[in-house]
Formats: sequence, structure tokens, C-alpha cells
Amino acid sequence: MDFADSPADAQFRAHAREWLAVHAPVTRGRGRVSWSDDATLVAAAREWQSKKAAAGYAAVALPREYGGGGGTTTQQVIFRQEEERYDVPFGVYEIGLGMCVPTLLALGSDQVKERFLARAINGEEIWCQLFSEPAAGSDLAALRTKAVKAGDNWVVDGQKVWTTGAQFSDYGLLLARTDPSATKHAGLTLFIVDMRAPGVEVRPIRQLDGGAEFNEVFLSSVVIPDEFRLTAPGGGWAGAMTTLMFERLNVGANIGLIDSSTLIDFSGRLETSTGRASDDPLVRDMIAQAYLNDRGLKLLTYRTLTKLGRGQLPGPEQSITKLVIASQAQLIANLLLDLRGKEGALAGSALGEGWEAVERSWSFGAAMRIAGGTDEILRNVIAERVLGLPAAKRDDATRPFNENPA
Ligand SMILES: Cc1cc2nc3c(=O)[nH]c(=O)nc-3n(C[C@H](O)[C@H](O)[C@H](O)COP(=O)(O)OP(=O)(O)OC[C@H]3O[C@@H](n4cnc5c(N)ncnc54)[C@H](O)[C@@H]3O)c2cc1C
Repeated sequence: MDFADSPADAQFRAHAREWLAVHAPVTRGRGRVSWSDDATLVAAAREWQSKKAAAGYAAVALPREYGGGGGTTTQQVIFRQEEERYDVPFGVYEIGLGMCVPTLLALGSDQVKERFLARAINGEEIWCQLFSEPAAGSDLAALRTKAVKAGDNWVVDGQKVWTTGAQFSDYGLLLARTDPSATKHAGLTLFIVDMRAPGVEVRPIRQLDGGAEFNEVFLSSVVIPDEFRLTAPGGGWAGAMTTLMFERLNVGANIGLIDSSTLIDFSGRLETSTGRASDDPLVRDMIAQAYLNDRGLKLLTYRTLTKLGRGQLPGPEQSITKLVIASQAQLIANLLLDLRGKEGALAGSALGEGWEAVERSWSFGAAMRIAGGTDEILRNVIAERVLGLPAAKRDDATRPFNENPA
């Protein structure tokens, strides 16, 4: 198999590179664009998204009829690789484009696609994902937010938590329980919820670093029209799994965490009290391990791209990518900061040019080991669904949900 760009992909990459050089704001390493608050971030993100939409780069692999670029999945990955070299305000649309739009495309009616896709792609509307609840994170199917049918509508009551970007989102994908007398996985349904509807209250969660990227979302008698239902009543679990697979695919591919190349580059230039860091046998061991992991992940990515290119969905083996990337990035960042000695305790620009990516991997790697399925849960998925090992005993999945202890 030839892993170099095909002539068509090489041409696509060259055009993307040219376009980005003219239109992208600031190159990584030459200064970091920062956004002082949500309003400034959203304004910058909207501007960038609409520029990309006009050039066909907003959602490279999605159909042109919905505002996508009509390209291939490989080209989408190529554009993202090139865009990664710039400090562009991507985070605002990450959940919408990475998870919600593919879910709408896979599950939405023609009406839903017509109404939502183009606006999500060109950046007019921002999306979030309302799955996790205070007592339903890893055990997502234990969620208690309920949706009750009332004529042509559904009425929703409950609470979500850790909802990234809910504070500036227009719509969200909502997983709710519609039949408490069914088993826990069978009683769920996936909806679209209007985040500005009466009864939706968004409360920010203040982080240790001063930011507030996540929220609690309280839903009190929120009315959702039946045409905003994305799955059959009771079919929400399979719908949610579609979203989560795209989430793991995105988190694996797009989070900008460091890999073996950063370790090789930085340790080769770093002088420690005992000499050059890359001459240390422990560092060399880590380089070898990380390099092999990265090669393995690259091959796995090619397998996933081949599947997507054939119109198939990524399978459970995709869980390996996030599991390896996030924990490895954290290990490499720890090692590099340790190798700096006392200087490793510095923060931000004081660490020196190029080190912001190391610092980010040190802190954000930890978050990525939780988001979209924790390391432990991904290991369960790999054990049971990839390796075919016996499943853990789960009594609560076989009786009606409302007979499970609260
Ligand atoms: C950066 C970030 C962004 C997020 N954004 C969103 C969002 O936009 N929307 C949303 O809905 N959610 C979001 N989340 C929430 C995320 O999906 C949950 O945090 C995650 O699923 C884990 O759930 P929990 O926090 O309730 O932990 P718990 O499920 O309570 O887990 C606690 C610990 O127990 C372990 N554990 C649990 N069950 C098992 C088991 N069966 N076997 C072994 N170990 C187990 C876990 O691995 C973990 O270490 C986000 C989280 C993060 C970190």
C-alpha cells in the first residue's frame, strides 16, 4: 500500500496550503492568538468558519448540497493537518462539525438535513452535545432526563452536565429517557433541542484555570417538536453510539496533542545536567515506544479512512486511537517538562517558543483521557468488542430501568 498523497490529494494539499497561507490568521510558533472572552472567541470563530465555507473548506467531505466541500474523507484529514499549523479558532465548531453534523447526516430526515446542515457548516448555528448527567457519565445508559410525549411534541425535564460550549450554542443533541419501563438501553431516544427554548437554563462550571468551557444544563418542561426526534422512540442508544464513535474519531485525530516527533525534536535540542536529553537511555526508550505507537496509530487511521471512504462507519477499534494519543501525550509532556528541571515549573510564554504545545498536552491530555469515554471504559470496549473477551456482568441492563435501584 502506498501511503503518500495520491496526485489528486497532493494537488488538494497544495491548494489548501496556498489558501491557508493567504487567509489563516497567525502561524503557530510566531505568536498565539488569544480570545479574551466567549463573545470575542465566537466572533473570531464565525468569521473563520464563514471564510472556509465560502472556499469549500468548512466541511471538506460533506455533500455540496448542504454547504460541504464535496471532497473525500482523506481530503478532510489533509485540510485539518494543514489547518493545524495555524492558530485558528476551531474549538467553537468542533462538537457541531465533528459529532452533531455527522449524526444529523446519518440519522436526520430530509427536512432535518435541509433545516440544519448548511447553517451548522457555514457557522451560522453552533451545536453542543447533551449526553452526560450527574449520575450517568461512563454509564451513559443510566441517564434520567425524561421526555414524555404530549400530542405532537415531547416535554423534557432533567439535568445535563459537562456540556461543552452550551453557553453559546444554538442547538444540541439530547439523549433522553422516553420509556422507563424498558431496559436501560432500550428506553432512550435522541432529539435535537433548541438551546434558546423556554425552560433551558445554562449554568457555567468555573474551572481551576479560570475558564468556564463546560456547563450544567437544566431542562424544565422544555417542548421539543416531534420532527426534532432523530431516532425511533427507544432507538436512542444506537443513535448515541453513532455520535460517540465520531467523537472518538475526532478526539483521536484533531486535538493537537504532541506525539513522538515533538519528543524527538525537543529532546534532541535539550541540554540537561548530564548531557543532551536524547542521549539518555530512558529518553531513548520512551522515543522508541512513542514512535512505534505513532506508527501503529497511523496504520489504524488508514484503516479507518478506508472504511469511511467506502461509506462504512468507524468501528469499535477506533477507541484505540484516543486511548493511546491522550495518555502518550501526557507522558511525553511530563517527561519533557521534567527534563527542563526547575524551569519545567514555568508557564505560558515563560517556557519558551514552541513549548505551549507541550504545556497544553500536559494539562489537556488529562481532560482528553476522560472526554468521550474514559481510558477504563475504552479498555472495556476494546476487550469486549475488538478482542472478543467475555463481557462484564451487568444485571441492571436486563431488567426494566425503573426497577433498577436509584
Ligand atoms: C473535556 C471534556 C469535555 C466534555 N464535554 C462533554 C459534552 O460536551 N457533553 C457531554 O455530554 N459530556 C461531556 N463530557 C463528559 C464526559 O463524557 C464524562 O466526563 C465521561 O463520560 C466520564 O463520566 P463521569 O465524569 O461521570 O465519570 P464516571 O463515569 O463517574 O467515572 C469515574 C471513574 O470511574 C471509572 N469507571 C466508571 N465505570 C467504570 C467501569 N465500568 N469499569 C472501569 N472503570 C470505570 C472511570 O473510568 C473514571 O475513572 C466532557 C468531559 C470532558 C473531560
